[in-house]
Amino acid sequence: MIVMKFGGTSVGSPERIRSVVNLVNDDKPKIVVLSAMSGTTNALVKISELFYAGNKSAVAEIDQLEDKYKVVVSELYGTEEYRNRGTGLIRERFDLLRSFSRRPFTAVDECTILAQGELLSTALTRLYCEESGIASMLLPALNFMRIDRNGEPDSYYIKEQINRELESCPDVKLFITQGFICRDANGEISNLKRGGSDYSASLIGKAINAEEIQIWTDIDGFHNNDPRYVKNTKAIRELSFSEAAELAYFGAKILHPACVWPAQEANIPLLLKNTMEPEAPGTVISSKAVDEGIKAIAAKDNITAIKIKSGRMLMAYGFLRKVFEVFESYRTPIDMITTSEIAVSLTIDSTVHLDKIIQELQLYGNVGIDRRMTIICIVGNNIMNSKESIAKIFKALKNVPVRMISYGGSRHNISILTDSEYKAEALNRLSEYLFMDEHRSRHKRHSSD
Ligand code: ADP
Ligand code: ASP
Ligand code: MG
Repeated sequence: MIVMKFGGTSVGSPERIRSVVNLVNDDKPKIVVLSAMSGTTNALVKISELFYAGNKSAVAEIDQLEDKYKVVVSELYGTEEYRNRGTGLIRERFDLLRSFSRRPFTAVDECTILAQGELLSTALTRLYCEESGIASMLLPALNFMRIDRNGEPDSYYIKEQINRELESCPDVKLFITQGFICRDANGEISNLKRGGSDYSASLIGKAINAEEIQIWTDIDGFHNNDPRYVKNTKAIRELSFSEAAELAYFGAKILHPACVWPAQEANIPLLLKNTMEPEAPGTVISSKAVDEGIKAIAAKDNITAIKIKSGRMLMAYGFLRKVFEVFESYRTPIDMITTSEIAVSLTIDSTVHLDKIIQELQLYGNVGIDRRMTIICIVGNNIMNSKESIAKIFKALKNVPVRMISYGGSRHNISILTDSEYKAEALNRLSEYLFMDEHRSRHKRHSSD
């Protein structure tokens, strides 16, 4: 069995939904994981914010979103009968959304609201399959996808439940399920965080021991830099799991930060493909050893750097342990760390408990904070073997103020921390020096570097 996940743009219009159904319509057994249609989750986030604020315009926003779905229904289905059924499907979802205006709003309600996008896209797509005479079945993610008390996927439960569901329908070849949504340890509706449908797909792939997990999106694979900031980026044909995991974790939006790990643990290849250009080869992420050297660059924003400076650190042991324990007690992961004789600098991306963390750290020394920082992550197998590339990185960043550098922590990653204001410049300069050397030398002949 394979898993095929389609993102928001891939199911973003009636035409796109028809192309997806076309792509999945063969005899190969598969689970198709769908995101919400593009724009929907953002609209649902806005609706919950309005509900939280007690703002009456939430209902007007819901009506507006429903109008968009009415157009989708009218264009997606070919017959009156299916248009009526489609209208019934969306009405049910939007009536539920409107019902939140009649009672106090809670965090569970917020998750229920955010879940409606994936519930809508999967229901509409399954109905379209039925109208087109394609046998398919909905596999409700809320029956098998669950996170535990720490917010981590409950792998054992997921595996048991999904396999039970599949075994109860041995004749079905095409299952359609929701990405992103899950239940929490109390059985309430929750989710795997924004962009989480990729994570759903790889958790499902691992749970059913799939042959392959395909992530279909709006670009022809993993590019060597962020195409939203850099022109002339190129698709990479092959990446190792470790390279892809680092890039996803450090901000490459094409994959959810945690999506590579389940596939890596189960050694299932991840294939990234373009829905708009299905013939393009895309990117294969697997355990196969691939070329050495720098493959790609990614950037992670909203980073906070914390410096703890203390004479007590000098020649002392146990100091770092105490510092790390503060972060552990507030369940706040640390991304980068550098030390000197009397100071330690580290970065975090969750500032939920920042005030309390600072208060406790002040017991150990002077604490300084830099906000709005960006980690630029340069990734490639055995990156450290390439002395020439390291020299190019520093040349490229000549005019970028570097706050921290992490080098040597792993064989495939060099991370650099800078003010977010310099992100675009750093990404572009690195691309120019690392991937477009020829272009650069030509340019250099005409201007002094
Ligand atoms: P989906 O809705 O299919 O999940 P996303 O918008 O989440 O799609 O991810 C695809 C987008 O990720 C691309 O359109 C591209 O702008 C962005 N992106 C950022 N970094 C990269 C990268 N290194 N390679 C490819 N795409 C990237
Ligand atoms: N619909 C969700 C989001 O927009 C999940 C996803 O698309 O992966 O974040
Ligand atoms: Mg995505």
